[in-house]
Amino acid sequence: MGEPPTDAAATRRMWESLEFRALLWINGEWCKAEDGRTFSVEDKATGEVIENVAMATDVETRKAVSAACDALPGWRRCPPAERSQFLQKILALLHEYKEPLARLITVEQGSPLDQSRSQVDYAASFFSWFAGEAQRIYGRSVPHPDPRRRLRVEYYPVGVVAAITPWNGALGLPAKKIAGALAAGCTIILKPSELTPLSALALAWLSQKAGLPSGVFNVVCGDAPAIGRVLLHDPDVRMITFTGSTRTGRCLMTEAAKQIKRISLELGGNAPFIVFSDADMNQAAEDLVWLKCMNSGQVCVTANRILVEENIQAEFVAKVLEHLRQQKLGHGLSPGVTVGPLIRREAVERIASLVQEAIKQGANLRYGGDIPPPGPGERFFPPTLLENVTQAMRLAREEIFGPVFPVLTFESDDEALQMANDTSYGLAAYVYTNNIARGQRFAEELEVGVVGINDPRPIIASAPFGGCKESGIGREGGTEGLLEFMEPRLIGTRFPENRFKSKSNPGSSEK
Ligand code: ADP
Repeated sequence: MGEPPTDAAATRRMWESLEFRALLWINGEWCKAEDGRTFSVEDKATGEVIENVAMATDVETRKAVSAACDALPGWRRCPPAERSQFLQKILALLHEYKEPLARLITVEQGSPLDQSRSQVDYAASFFSWFAGEAQRIYGRSVPHPDPRRRLRVEYYPVGVVAAITPWNGALGLPAKKIAGALAAGCTIILKPSELTPLSALALAWLSQKAGLPSGVFNVVCGDAPAIGRVLLHDPDVRMITFTGSTRTGRCLMTEAAKQIKRISLELGGNAPFIVFSDADMNQAAEDLVWLKCMNSGQVCVTANRILVEENIQAEFVAKVLEHLRQQKLGHGLSPGVTVGPLIRREAVERIASLVQEAIKQGANLRYGGDIPPPGPGERFFPPTLLENVTQAMRLAREEIFGPVFPVLTFESDDEALQMANDTSYGLAAYVYTNNIARGQRFAEELEVGVVGINDPRPIIASAPFGGCKESGIGREGGTEGLLEFMEPRLIGTRFPENRFKSKSNPGSSEK
């Protein structure tokens, strides 16, 4: 299972067509760490070290901030149409290098190759959307009660932005932030996860190939707390945009508050997937397994709790099991694999403990649950389904981040709604029903940022994505995603008193 695929050599060759360096990308140059230190990146399926990357600390981060500051005046003045052209060049390169990028994602992140290809498309869609949005930064005029006055609102880039991204969307998550910030006229320092820095470095290389001016986009990876300290404490960094755990998001927000830095947070989720007896059950089962197996369940918007109307539980679970039996666990580069490894062994152990605790408390294991022993294949957690799960169990309260399906039941709409909202998270929710009034009620009463009604994936680049409650603040994508990187400025003009007075017959009498 953990064996490398037979085409490993071909894989390496394809990936070498991406000429990024395992270094830091600062001010348009590939740089080593000043103390020469590196850290290793593994193939997540095999544990084999695939690269040693320069390890940034505060010294390199300060250089990156200074480069982004120096580049800011030129980039913010660059006409939007020109900024758009740079984004379009990067978009074209993402398409051109789609296959090697997808293979790189599969190796460093673990996701099956088809899913990695979709991730490259997803990354590209943000460059496409924001290349257009850059040219639609419209202001507006606001009527003033005083006839001598005019008010207008114009939008200006926030300034230097620090983007901090996790490992579960190695290319897609940095791409969202970079494309939005560049479109707005901001310069950026990206700190990708140390588990998956290579896709971010590949993105830096694409920006180099696209001719993006030096210092506009910088990448530092390595010692996260040391890098974070500089990004949070340097007053020249005006905004932090973060995707990751609620725990880290809370720390960043606390620190950012000291300088009232603007902050945008995409944090954890605990999405309910609600299935009513009037739903198309085949479609719901298929969508659920697709959603839940994507990236082995390591997605913040994945279904975390499956809430099923009690009278259809047996039938619905049987349909889900049919789909689960068709899933193939293995190295993401091996043909036919639909579920890859988890990011690290600790994740396997954590999820195993959630499952075992739930079983002890009365949950019924219906599928999977075989935890691999330490050694080869130790990161492969099999798709696992449990019934009789309750809201009190940690399995239902914590974000699982693995291919585990906890099934809970409800008897009424009110109970389903109450259970769905009974969580500190508020990111996504899915409702399967053919009753439009019921769908509308849930859309209005669920406390989340995204609702899918018979739709497992309403998230696209042109629509705002984000959460409420402890799932974060701010939005990515859509018009909102651009404004996130911009400050509105109110500009008032007062004209002289007689400026608008109509002159009575100013000498133009026809008589
Ligand atoms: P996960 O547990 O899923 O890796 P984290 O929230 O810990 O999620 O990590 C998300 C991103 O935040 C990663 O790039 C990580 O290196 C970074 N990070 C974690 N702690 C800090 C910190 N103190 N300062 C800056 N970045 C941090």
